[in-house]
Amino acid sequence: MVANEFLNIVGTLNEAKKIVVIGHIMPDGDDISSVLSLSLGLKKLGKEILSSIDWKIPGYFHEIDEVKHIRNYDEIDVYGFNPDVIVVVDASSPDRVGRFSEVLKDFKVIVIDHHATNTYFGDINWVDPTFGATAQMVLRINKELQVEYDERLALVNLMGIETDTGFFKYSNADERVFNDAAYLISLGARPDVIARMILENKRLEQFKLLSRMIDNLKLECDGKIAYSFLSKEDYEEFNCTDEDSGGFVSEIRAIKGVEIAIFFYEYVKGEVHISFRSKEWFDVSKIAFSLGGGGHPRAAGVTINGNIEDIIKEVIKLTKATFSAQR
Ligand code: 5GP
Ligand code: MN
Ligand code: MN
Repeated sequence: MVANEFLNIVGTLNEAKKIVVIGHIMPDGDDISSVLSLSLGLKKLGKEILSSIDWKIPGYFHEIDEVKHIRNYDEIDVYGFNPDVIVVVDASSPDRVGRFSEVLKDFKVIVIDHHATNTYFGDINWVDPTFGATAQMVLRINKELQVEYDERLALVNLMGIETDTGFFKYSNADERVFNDAAYLISLGARPDVIARMILENKRLEQFKLLSRMIDNLKLECDGKIAYSFLSKEDYEEFNCTDEDSGGFVSEIRAIKGVEIAIFFYEYVKGEVHISFRSKEWFDVSKIAFSLGGGGHPRAAGVTINGNIEDIIKEVIKLTKATFSAQR
């Protein structure tokens, strides 16, 4: 059955002339892919589009030329543009859109997202956690709007499916993911181009930072929980930014026997981001949500202000207690 919200969104976008498409802070591949795929699709239909993310886009994504169309919050004037509707993609709650959270109150808002922790903050919300990537949902919107796909749009759309499924290896890489990917590949997208751009594009300094992260690694609960951290000073020492530690939490999860991996990093002093991952069964989104964040059962996160050592102590205590109660 096609969701009512889906048809409602398609109808609203069909009628709209001016549309703002926004993604979430700390953008990942699915977010950038979803913003761009929807924006490019709607442009093909002759709509006037502003695309924006209130965050710096990680450097390697700029190898995708279309990324230059995504503007920062400061570079656009939503009120001057006066859109018929704002579409928010891949964001589970208003705090995830940065300074746009205030702007949303003044416009009609569509939310397209696949996080189970979504708070349904739009006027029309299509939220479906059975999708591996929001980019798959955007593909369906574009198809229903009869957007014609060229090679570039197919590539940009595939990026979100590839990145949010860990390049087709997470438990969310189901039959529909492979079918959608195959469809986009048939339209000219090259999965290897995206894989090289993201996985094989590292600076030597990143490996030194990784080495520090490994030095800081600790195991708890018979090796079922593994965690590590990087401080502001670590990033400075190796001339790195938070972009450089993007895949580190997956390295922690890769340890044999680990069910829960946690990576704490403080790129801005006093602001600690926590990335949670689990391997087979533990629902990390519940812990992240209880701390004010959110995400998926196998990948979630939150940012907490405070002293990194205190935060690590508290979060590990909470995780150990929750894990021990469930195992
Ligand atoms: P990461 O650990 O890579 O930052 O995030 C993993 C997952 O958790 C992503 O799906 C991301 O959207 C979500 N996430 C990360 N940080 C936050 C947060 O502060 N709030 C919410 N609601 N979700 C987050
Ligand atoms: Mn995302
Ligand atoms: Mn996503």
